[in-house]
Amino acid sequence: MKKMKQLYEGKAKRVFLTEESSLVIQEFKDDATAFNNKKKGTIAEKGVVNNAISCKLFTLLEEHGIHTHLVEKLSDRDMLCRHLDIIKVEVVVRNIAAGSLVKRYGFAEGTVLENPIVEFYLKDDDLDDPLMNESHAVALGVATLEELAILKNRAEAVNAVLKQFFADRKLKLVDFKLEFGRHDGEILLGDEISPDTCRFWDLETNEKMDKDRFRFDLGGVEDAYSEVQRRVLELD
Ligand code: UDP
Repeated sequence: MKKMKQLYEGKAKRVFLTEESSLVIQEFKDDATAFNNKKKGTIAEKGVVNNAISCKLFTLLEEHGIHTHLVEKLSDRDMLCRHLDIIKVEVVVRNIAAGSLVKRYGFAEGTVLENPIVEFYLKDDDLDDPLMNESHAVALGVATLEELAILKNRAEAVNAVLKQFFADRKLKLVDFKLEFGRHDGEILLGDEISPDTCRFWDLETNEKMDKDRFRFDLGGVEDAYSEVQRRVLELD
């Protein structure tokens, strides 16, 4: 399968049409952004690492009956995917308080949440991805109530699988963001799951092993990403 016309260029990925209209190729770049594009940079080999981690995690989720857009890993940076009509909702799941949860609600960072929190954000860079509830999403026409219920259930199922998977690899899955899309009357998990879209803390030291190292200039960004990759892939 080869790349045809570029369909879209995002912050961390490019998406290409292929000869097959139901399939696209997602190419992972090394570009990194944070704070809605206000901070820009590159993380060496990030595209290779995030493609490898995402392919492994999507395969794991498929093994648990969660349908994703992954067809196959084509190369270091390229993932062959089902072509989705992306739902403009970012679904965030939180197991431990960090990031905007701390800022918005005053939780102490690191507070373990007894029940995971699921949040919906409108996927709209111009509006800074505002937090929204089901009524907002329905009023905006981005998803139906039935679809939102599926997204929440699916996100909780993903969390159950990934939390255990990362605990086995001595990482705490603090929080993460998922995107979904419609394909042939079905809702599939799309986008990526990587240190760009998740927070991981080392189980023993609580060291941050994700994009927060880039966001807050903590140093050791590449090392953290490749250590996550090592832990994700080593037990194969
Ligand atoms: N996240 C993401 N893309 C976004 C916003 C958030 O991948 O546009 C991820 C982020 O990496 C973290 C989780 O979702 O793992 C929760 O992010 P939060 O709401 O705390 O926002 P942030 O502090 O990252 O701005």
